[in-house]
Amino acid sequence: LTRMTAIGIDIGATKILTCLVDADGAILREVVSPTPPASASAVEDAVAAATSEVLEDIGGDVTPIGVSVAGWVSRDRKSVLFSPHLAWRHEPLADRLSARLGQPVFVENDANAAAWGEFVFGAGRGFSDVAVVTVGSGIGAGIISDGRLLRGGNGLAGEFGHTVVDPRGPDCACGRRGCVDSLSSGRALERHYNAIEGSPEHGTTSGVEILELARAGKPSAVAAFHELGRWLGTSLGDLVMYFDPQIVLLGGGVSGAGELLTIPTERALAETIVAHEEVAPTMVRVATLGHTAGAIGAANLALKAERQEVQEVQAQLNA
Ligand SMILES: [Zn+2]
Repeated sequence: LTRMTAIGIDIGATKILTCLVDADGAILREVVSPTPPASASAVEDAVAAATSEVLEDIGGDVTPIGVSVAGWVSRDRKSVLFSPHLAWRHEPLADRLSARLGQPVFVENDANAAAWGEFVFGAGRGFSDVAVVTVGSGIGAGIISDGRLLRGGNGLAGEFGHTVVDPRGPDCACGRRGCVDSLSSGRALERHYNAIEGSPEHGTTSGVEILELARAGKPSAVAAFHELGRWLGTSLGDLVMYFDPQIVLLGGGVSGAGELLTIPTERALAETIVAHEEVAPTMVRVATLGHTAGAIGAANLALKAERQEVQEVQAQLNA
């Protein structure tokens, strides 16, 4: 009864990554397909097609499926309550996919799935309490507390990107001001750089170009990362005081900057939290699974959830 493989699907803004993942987190097979624009049902069709392709390869065995998706996922992991990119509103995604594919399906918030992947197979291995913050075009977080993924009472735990760090800060996409998202995301990096350079708000220098300039030692580009890290580290101070992680891992596109990002973030975090001589300062490091973290984490969570359901059924039969 020990299932060895699961399918992990990460639905991104532009690509859908579908992976067959074994119990050690290794990817055995991978299908990459474009995310169809606009229509939620077209996305569901694309996910079903890619998954069927993988399922056909491996024969008829029961294979749990984990779906990682940006947005709010219900606590029971069946529905997408709200997705900013995919026009899903109270979408019963798990039941719909399960009916089409004939397999158990579990939906997970993308930041949570990535955090679980890093905790079990990546840079979080060996720790009991880990926070994984995804810094990309937006900011998400997943929190592992005492070995468990925190989902919260409504499935919204870890919505770190929209905690307010500067109430008088820039406008945020969520309609408020000064969220971490508006000060520490990839978009914010461009804004910091433009502000330091004295160029207009909508400059033409992309995040990738700013990273290249920073690596080449251009002071204003390095300063943009410092500004981003200063806000990120300051806001992480709250998260660290609430959850006391042993390590904070930074993933997502901006984390490709490595120490240009982790060093100013770690420094700002150390300045923000109450120092205890008895406790080492919280480490800030780069996550290691890269763009596969969500799919690997979702697959492992699905494997775990399916085993739990089997055990519950067995317990009932034995009772
Ligand atoms: Zn916001």
